[in-house]
Amino acid sequence: MPSRPFTATILGSPRIGPHRELKRAIEAYWAGRTTRADLESVAADLRRETWAALSVAGLDSVPVNTFSLYDQMLDTAALLGALPPRVAGIADDLDRYFAAARGTKDVAPLEMTKWFDTNYHYIVPEIAPYTAFTLHPGKVLAECKEAQQQGVTVRPVIVGPITFLALSKAVGDASAPIARLGELIPLYTQLLGLLAAARVAWVQIDEPVLVTDILDNGPELAELTYTALGAHAERPAIFVATYFGGLDAALPALARTPIEAIGLDLVAGGDSAAAAVPELADKTLVAGIVDGRNVWRTDLEAALCRLATLSGAARSVAVSTSCSTLHVPYSLTAETDVDDRLHSWLAFGAEKVTEVVTLAKALHGGRDTVAAAVESSNAAMASRASDPRLCNRQIRARIDGLAASASQRGPGEVRRAIQDDRLHLPPLPTTTIGSFPQTSTIRKARAELRSGEIDESEYIRLMRAEVADVIRLQEELGLDVLVHGEPERNDMVQYFAEQLDGFFATVNGWVQSYGTRCVRPPILYGDVSRPHPMTVDWATYAQSLTAKPVKGMLTGPVTILAWSFVRDDQPLADTANQIALAIRDETVDLQSAGIAIIQVDEPALRELLPLRSKDKAGYLAWAVAAFRLATSGVADSTQIHTHLCYSEFGEVIGAIADLDADVTSIEAARSHMEVLDDLNAIGFGNSVGPGVYDIHSPRIPATAEIAQSLRSALKAVPAERLWVNPDCGLKTRRSTEVNASLRNLVNAAARVRAGAEEVPGACGWPGR
Ligand code: GLN
Ligand code: ZN
Repeated sequence: MPSRPFTATILGSPRIGPHRELKRAIEAYWAGRTTRADLESVAADLRRETWAALSVAGLDSVPVNTFSLYDQMLDTAALLGALPPRVAGIADDLDRYFAAARGTKDVAPLEMTKWFDTNYHYIVPEIAPYTAFTLHPGKVLAECKEAQQQGVTVRPVIVGPITFLALSKAVGDASAPIARLGELIPLYTQLLGLLAAARVAWVQIDEPVLVTDILDNGPELAELTYTALGAHAERPAIFVATYFGGLDAALPALARTPIEAIGLDLVAGGDSAAAAVPELADKTLVAGIVDGRNVWRTDLEAALCRLATLSGAARSVAVSTSCSTLHVPYSLTAETDVDDRLHSWLAFGAEKVTEVVTLAKALHGGRDTVAAAVESSNAAMASRASDPRLCNRQIRARIDGLAASASQRGPGEVRRAIQDDRLHLPPLPTTTIGSFPQTSTIRKARAELRSGEIDESEYIRLMRAEVADVIRLQEELGLDVLVHGEPERNDMVQYFAEQLDGFFATVNGWVQSYGTRCVRPPILYGDVSRPHPMTVDWATYAQSLTAKPVKGMLTGPVTILAWSFVRDDQPLADTANQIALAIRDETVDLQSAGIAIIQVDEPALRELLPLRSKDKAGYLAWAVAAFRLATSGVADSTQIHTHLCYSEFGEVIGAIADLDADVTSIEAARSHMEVLDDLNAIGFGNSVGPGVYDIHSPRIPATAEIAQSLRSALKAVPAERLWVNPDCGLKTRRSTEVNASLRNLVNAAARVRAGAEEVPGACGWPGR
């Protein structure tokens, strides 16, 4: 069992393919265009290429089993026999797996949610009282064997039992899944035995949940679990990996167990604690010093200093990325369109592997063995620090000069009275969240613009025609507050990033978001400024087509930050304020152009919430301040809307009120309007549009059903503050679904208005 410690590794790697080969192969299989064998051959090729590249680059321990056809949590559910019973009838194991992930016409899929504070979404396993855990080690054993046959020093990676259960969901009256930890220990023990028999020297068990406060007894569970797993004689050496934050009390707890290595995220978590844990002296400390989830090149000189201070703390120190490089694009080599300076500041997945190997070499052979690499890194750091694009004095002076009063608007009720006088909306005004279906005309035009078949002016002409169609449709449906439909936007963050200074849009910087879906986050590298208005022409064009108010549509500073790769050389709050200032200037321009209602979307407000409770208040304070900076430059007569989605608002409910938007549209259909009670509980006094139907489903809600939701909403919110809208944008839906659903929504609002007039005072009806 005493395995030789490794020195250089990464915790996991992207799997979707350098040119999204896996995405295409899986989608072709789903569409029935290819066979299972075709898909498996693409998958095997990708695995082989990944392992070969990592070995050749010089890693002396290569993660395997981080490959996945959909998601690693779903893989773990399959490993532990915990797929939901509703898919059990599907005979083919691959189709069963995909059915759990995405549903079929007969079965609902498992839920999906954010993986910690990243933009990756995992599949949430369901644990019912009748879930009987059993081990199905086929995938991990097969991948180990495949890699071993290729001559690779394998280190299988498994999601640990504590993290698996803590992130699973209890269904059917089950108690919290973590109560079943004791049942998983024998299965993991059995798996360790099988891996030992397969000549696996090291296994990596991921326990990122230990860096959060999700469990109140995390350290205790860690000590119990790994004392039990470590006690087994026939096993590989165990490396418990943690990432996305610091371990705090879980570090000494883990260190007291007989495992052989502990991984720390030195980027997100700091490292001061390690030196103070004497039990680390007989372990390998896997130092996650190369940032696995952001795109910046590592300052090798600084990293070597930090590593030097750690080397006394443990038996040996290995160099690693802070987390799996799943969260960054494959390689910089595909970015041909980036200027040399910016290029020299960046490191994507492949470049990070090189950095790890370089640092490991220096750590064990001395700095001189890598002098050229360190010098090159130093030059890049100097170039970055001195680049004029990183410091826009004008913008900084404007932010410094803004008084606190700059983020203050008049009292909410005063604003509501002024806006009511201006807008003359009926009670229970109907509206939508912004986007309308991305039709094939829109997609085709965008592709043709990219390939040069049409020019910019033709593209704008086509998009204007779409706007005109969407306005006509909304008039015809009888909605009260219209939108332009966002046809010109590929993505609600990228659209703004492409127009703001300080951002760079990659050509191939794809990152897996969930399943086969990838996103291409822009890189926010410098001070942000707005060279010209971004949305005014679209908004005024749409407004020119109708007498009804059209909402200006912007993305908020927190969401732009959350869905970009952000600079790491200044506090996030400072970057947020710069984006906020650009949005603020845009709102003022929209107002001057005659737009009376402006929506600033913040769907990601909840996402950036820190993992540790103690850090949450500080985050919410700056996030709210940035939103208010962005939205308080307009007069009280301009109505500010915001939109929030992706559920579970509990922890941010106070912050939602502090945003002080005039109207907040919020996802609520799936949670049955409970969010309204939560808002009431904190004294929320502005208007609110709880989503009355779920846009994530193709189902068309009936008029009576929407009317029922509205009546139940009216129990919590008086009519003069209640808006009627779907629960998110409509861009992913088909036109036929959208038209029918919105028609029912308008009818339901009319029905409830009429009913309420018949029964005055049913819930404080204002009688206007
Ligand atoms: N305005 C955006 C839209 O309708 C909001 C999207 C979102 O909330 N994610 O598409
Ligand atoms: Zn939304």
